[in-house]
Amino acid sequence: MLWTARRADRFPHALLITGPAGVGKRRLVARLAHSLLCQAADAVGTPCGQCRDCDLWAAGNHPDYMEIGPDPEGPSDEIRVASVRRLAESDALTAHRGGYKLIVIDPAQRMNTAAANSLLKTLEEPSPGTLLCLVCEQPSRLPATVRSRCQPLPVSVPREDEAVAWLSRQVPASEASKLLSVAAGAPLRALEVAQSGELAVRDQIFAGFAAVGHGKRDPVATAAGWNQYEPAILLDWLSGWMGDLLRLSSGHPEPRLTNADKSDVLRSLAGRMDPAAGHRFLRDILSAKAAEGATLNRLLLYESLLVAWMRITSR
Ligand SMILES: [Zn+2]
Repeated sequence: MLWTARRADRFPHALLITGPAGVGKRRLVARLAHSLLCQAADAVGTPCGQCRDCDLWAAGNHPDYMEIGPDPEGPSDEIRVASVRRLAESDALTAHRGGYKLIVIDPAQRMNTAAANSLLKTLEEPSPGTLLCLVCEQPSRLPATVRSRCQPLPVSVPREDEAVAWLSRQVPASEASKLLSVAAGAPLRALEVAQSGELAVRDQIFAGFAAVGHGKRDPVATAAGWNQYEPAILLDWLSGWMGDLLRLSSGHPEPRLTNADKSDVLRSLAGRMDPAAGHRFLRDILSAKAAEGATLNRLLLYESLLVAWMRITSR
């Protein structure tokens, strides 16, 4: 689709590439960038692999490819205005090698307000031959003014059978389905889960969650054990388990569970949970997730969530 637009010279100036973690947004951007930079790509955009541009790309230092992200040594994980302002410098938007110029902003939702405003100026006065790619998992957190100036390119979760087939070539086939459900259907995320040993951590966190829900473990002590883990991933798991618990308490005879590997324990927890309170609890988890990036005391967050969880399962 994009390639047809390129050949017709109707290529957009800015793309907003969205989709959940691990569906291949960055692979798509890299593939697109390489295609556009190669001087001899074929009719469907496959790079030749032999020209000077392909050499520069393979070496990771093509002068017309630029990534803007949070400063790894900066005081926060925001994308700051100084990084975006470089785009407004005289030759920043002109290709050195005469072809396309690619600028990737990733993750775009990390731009602070000043950075987003600065980007807006660039979007309002696009330079021919320049393509801005905003990579973003939460487009709702971008200013509407920025969103409206980009062509949306959603990358969706692939069909389950396709994803399982792909994943089974990388991991033991018996684990593919479980990994995929843990990764909410996103195959690259599933592969990352397999390679990072995350599944064992998830089992351990789930055991703590279940023990608190059964009144067998102290919520504060459990929270202390969780403190070494990032809220982003832990809150994802919690909201997934709560989603399944609410499905189980909805009265549906055979609800389809996301965490099928935990169905027995989830069933027993659902029997102890007050569903209305469960909905409120899920909302609390989701708002903690939405506050990602804001300064928060991780231990305090885990303590308050686990104490709330204990209360709603003590009937
Ligand atoms: Zn090439």
